[in-house]
Amino acid sequence: MKIVLASHNKHKIAELKRILSQSIPEVEVYSLDEVGLTDEIEENGTTFAENATIKARAAAMSGYIGVGDDSGLEVNALGGAPGIYSARYAGEHGNDEANNQLLLQNLADKQDRSGAFVCAIACVFPEEPDNAHVFLGKTEGEILHAYRGNTGFGYDPLFYYPPMEKSYAEMTADEKNSISHRGRAMQLLVDFLVKNYNGV
Ligand code: IMP
Repeated sequence: MKIVLASHNKHKIAELKRILSQSIPEVEVYSLDEVGLTDEIEENGTTFAENATIKARAAAMSGYIGVGDDSGLEVNALGGAPGIYSARYAGEHGNDEANNQLLLQNLADKQDRSGAFVCAIACVFPEEPDNAHVFLGKTEGEILHAYRGNTGFGYDPLFYYPPMEKSYAEMTADEKNSISHRGRAMQLLVDFLVKNYNGV
């Protein structure tokens, strides 16, 4: 099974490969660059699912199974922000420190600190580009008042997961994968591929 993941992020590619290969040993996962798709994909959807689908469809242009993902943090007291703008909440794409500081600032006078990480993963078979299969993973938690832990990335040190009494940044990679929004969506993708794969 050949899959093209619509990402340039080597960690995401390795993670998807590791999870998939436990159920589908012959899986091969490529990045867009590796299959010669170098054009920038315009992520202009209004939901995680739309953005994931846009990316998966672009990856399926390779002729292999296309997979795309989009994720972010939704905070209830902020009307769902930062949401699809999570990576650039404070303006500059991928500035985690600025994003975290803005989040703390915007929540300073709020009682309700509940929120959820959400991940959409879309899968598109090249012979049916209009038919995207979308899987959603969601993990609910609380936004902390100060950083806890030092693993991970993004909003990890501010996202507390009560059932484990840890922030995302205090978890091992395996712990986080077992309960995270991305881990849950990926597991749904794996289950789907195991059931539906017929030799692309
Ligand atoms: P992406 O769509 O997976 O690239 O994620 C978009 C943004 O959401 C990231 O830049 C982070 O700010 C945030 N994010 C998504 N998943 C996580 C996570 O597992 N931990 C922390 N931040 C995350």
